[in-house]
Amino acid sequence: MDAVTSANCYTQPEILLKSMALIIRSSAIHAAGCYTTSSIRSNTLVVEYTGPRISKELADERYRNSPTTYLFGLGDGSIVIDGHGTAMFINHSCDPNCETEEKDGRVWIRAIRKIAAGEELTYDYNLYDGENGGARCNCGARKCRGTMYSAAEIRRRRRVSTAARARKKVKAGKKLGRKARDSRSPTARKKTVVEPSTKPATSKLAKRPAARKKQKRAPLMSQG
Ligand SMILES: [Zn+2]
Repeated sequence: MDAVTSANCYTQPEILLKSMALIIRSSAIHAAGCYTTSSIRSNTLVVEYTGPRISKELADERYRNSPTTYLFGLGDGSIVIDGHGTAMFINHSCDPNCETEEKDGRVWIRAIRKIAAGEELTYDYNLYDGENGGARCNCGARKCRGTMYSAAEIRRRRRVSTAARARKKVKAGKKLGRKARDSRSPTARKKTVVEPSTKPATSKLAKRPAARKKQKRAPLMSQG
């Protein structure tokens, strides 16, 4: 049986939920995933992302030490859905068969292509906040980004990282300049300039999260 495809699913989501045949079982992408036992037509509203609405601050506090979160940022991200229900099991893919849709404070998962019975449902998490390096993607898609962060977030992190490297270089340059001025002989100055001790510091900084404050937050899912 095909899933319900109607705009009134927004007002009658219970019809949609009863009509769908979604199951949770182990997934090759990550832990448990959500699968459909019936075919789903493109553009179908598949399931609502349900759960209590909590503040971003409370989510940060609640999941400070949790490696996994099921948070979905609403609107500007100040309120998040603390996932509780079927949709929270839907895994990320860089080549997904669903997308998310926010309407009137509710989030729906919509099929963006025909999905065959037995397929795992996926959507692109487009993460924009979280611990550095904690969002490696295993979706296996040919065009996998290698991370669940959004393309925009990847670009932002690159910019921050490049800026941090530049700041470190300037700092190292100033340090060398001061040492050079303090040196009393050309020999001593030369020795200071070729001093390799600044190199490890530079490369270490490049690997370190540049925006530590922001990356302390729990990962969030966004429509991007
Ligand atoms: Zn991927």
